[in-house]
Amino acid sequence: MTIDLDFTHDPQARSWIEGPASHADFPVQNLPLGVFAPPDDPDRPRGGVAIGDYVLDLERLDEAGIVSPEARLALGLARRAPLNAFFADRAHARVLRRALFVLLTDERQQAKVRPCLRWRADMHMRLPFAVGDYTDFYTGIHHAENIGRLFRPDNPLLPNYKYVPIGYHGRASSIRASGVPVRRPMGQTRAPDAAEPVFGPCKRLDYELEMAIWVGEGNALGHPIAIGEAGRHVAGLSILNDWSARDMQAWEYQPLGPFLAKNFHSTVSPWVVTMDALAPFRVPQPARPAGDPAPLPYLLDAEDQAHGALDVQMEVWLSTVKMRAAGEAPHRLSSGPMTAMYWTMAQLVAHHASNGCDLQPGDLLGTGTLTSGAPGGEGSLMELTLGGKAAITLPNGEKRTFLEDGDEVVMTAFAQRHGYARIGFGECRGTVVG
Ligand code: MN
Repeated sequence: MTIDLDFTHDPQARSWIEGPASHADFPVQNLPLGVFAPPDDPDRPRGGVAIGDYVLDLERLDEAGIVSPEARLALGLARRAPLNAFFADRAHARVLRRALFVLLTDERQQAKVRPCLRWRADMHMRLPFAVGDYTDFYTGIHHAENIGRLFRPDNPLLPNYKYVPIGYHGRASSIRASGVPVRRPMGQTRAPDAAEPVFGPCKRLDYELEMAIWVGEGNALGHPIAIGEAGRHVAGLSILNDWSARDMQAWEYQPLGPFLAKNFHSTVSPWVVTMDALAPFRVPQPARPAGDPAPLPYLLDAEDQAHGALDVQMEVWLSTVKMRAAGEAPHRLSSGPMTAMYWTMAQLVAHHASNGCDLQPGDLLGTGTLTSGAPGGEGSLMELTLGGKAAITLPNGEKRTFLEDGDEVVMTAFAQRHGYARIGFGECRGTVVG
């Protein structure tokens, strides 16, 4: 995995647009791509780039004919929704990033580019990709230990955990972009003291704080991806909330794993933060604790171990109906780093394709719930409330074990490092409706 820093990472660079220089998420050093529908043309979603409080409309930009010739092909793909074809070749993202960076920082381009800007808050964000397949991993080792401990106090991790990146195939059809309400699922549950299950509304609805790894270039069936190449198959990242019905999960998950407790809805933040934008935030994969096995050779690459993790901070915020009515700000439930992953992104890609399974552009790989291991770093209510046994108290006195109707969960994430511009991911937002 190579680290390519260039002029687009210059922390001193400033856009002529008002706002981005101090924007918490979208300075000119970020330039994430997404798909949006403008209110005046709602049936024609198209590609856009977030810059400060604006979206750069790539359809308008293409029609304005002002990008450099070498970026015309990339722009022609990026303007079209969904973004699968654009991200299928990683070169497109880099070419477009450089061209847009020049347009947005060169004062002389202002008159031509400004008509392509739209006020971001007015745009309806869609999913960035047509998601063919969704795989959810389980790389958050502290989460795996916390959940395992609820069932097996003495032996929380199963023997395969440190050898196999554990995952399951989720469902792509029920993935939605941030902002779509989440309907409380109905399902079978069985109370611990009951002889028979019942069918009814989920009573233990939870969130899971994850990152979405978007596959860019795919691989042909029967042709695995080598670990040293795997990083190049990642297009970028969004935030993922893998909503979970814990009571349904407990009853249904054996012997084949998660099913209806997971596939009723998954929310992703709409902006794809590219691997180029994240280049300054690459860090070594944290060393495994003494005594842990080394990854098998097909998952081990020196370059990946040296640069394959990301210094990204993630946060979960909750606001209740009562809090919003009183004008109170959302309450932060937890925060933690993405380095809680026991496996790197490249290891997930390499493992997924190691049997010959073909990955395709726009496939979504969830990291699994990322819990930091420190107090305040719990990535789910299941952990925060010790399986629902210890209610948490919000600042206004309300208590929660699991989510109630009207609760709004907002996940955010950002990368920050001395010597570079801070960049963020925007929001992954969803409100529970009954
Ligand atoms: Mn999950």
